[in-house]
Amino acid sequence: MDWLSPIPLSMPGMLGTVACYLLRGPDGAVLIDTGMNDASVVTLLTRCLKEYGLVPSSLQAVICTHYHCDHAGLGAFFQSQGVPVIMSEVDARALTAYFSHPDRDFERALLYGAHGVPDHFRQAVGDTFAYLRSQHAPFVPDRTVKDGQSLCFAGRTLEVIATPGHTPGHICLLDKETGVLFAGDHILEDATVYVSLSLEDVCDDVLGAYLASLARIAALGPRQGFAGHGPLIADTSRRADQVARYHGARVKRVADCLSDRPMGCLDVSRSLFGDKRSPLARWLAAAHTLSCLEHLVARGEARMEVEDGQRRYRQQRHPVAPVTLS
Ligand SMILES: [Zn+2]
Repeated sequence: MDWLSPIPLSMPGMLGTVACYLLRGPDGAVLIDTGMNDASVVTLLTRCLKEYGLVPSSLQAVICTHYHCDHAGLGAFFQSQGVPVIMSEVDARALTAYFSHPDRDFERALLYGAHGVPDHFRQAVGDTFAYLRSQHAPFVPDRTVKDGQSLCFAGRTLEVIATPGHTPGHICLLDKETGVLFAGDHILEDATVYVSLSLEDVCDDVLGAYLASLARIAALGPRQGFAGHGPLIADTSRRADQVARYHGARVKRVADCLSDRPMGCLDVSRSLFGDKRSPLARWLAAAHTLSCLEHLVARGEARMEVEDGQRRYRQQRHPVAPVTLS
């Protein structure tokens, strides 16, 4: 596939790399995802483009799979080069909300206050949020897309597949001719991605939305996937199934933990995952647990109640209909 070139970019201040993808055709080139907003990333990306005889301003467009800083951090930079940036309609709204409320990073995951997350978590988690914000730059996408639309660049036709979960408006892109899937952070070959509630979400049952998105990708059938991080996904259908089973097992563990006694998400998380070392790791575990709890509520298997301003969850028992003998 000489039309497709992965461009791995460092993520300053973080482990690993983010993979952007350069697609080249007779009519021009397009980039899928941008990397973080950092001068070293711009230098590296510019050097990579030069190997293909390109400069940033010569791209036809940049398409972002989602609004996070490692995938859209250089959106404003590309716009300054005259390159239009494309994103899903839903994530474009999430991006605007994100930049409109820099003061709300602390409550971003809805885990504070109502879920009883202690104050000392604030600093550790707040530092991470502040760092991620520093790797982004405000911009408004030039064009937004929806599920089912096609994008034609670099001689390819890319079908937009809405895959909410990791972000509310995450999209995968399917190259119609070859069946190659650009998976963004929807599925990775060697890791599971963060799925939890955030201020930018449009529904409470984020995990339910994510599981539905996984089922969609699984139903596409086996195909090669190019992910936002890590190795090539040999069979996206099989991997989507695996990830769905992983989350299904987690949901079951959370359900098994519930009883008639109301529990906060932090209590459930602690009893399932123990007291992880860093506040950030404990917060991530709690955030994941919360997505499982809200999924159980949506399925009618748990009940949420507010007690002294704190949200608590308990098992939802369904009344057994009386047996009538006639
Ligand atoms: Zn990412």
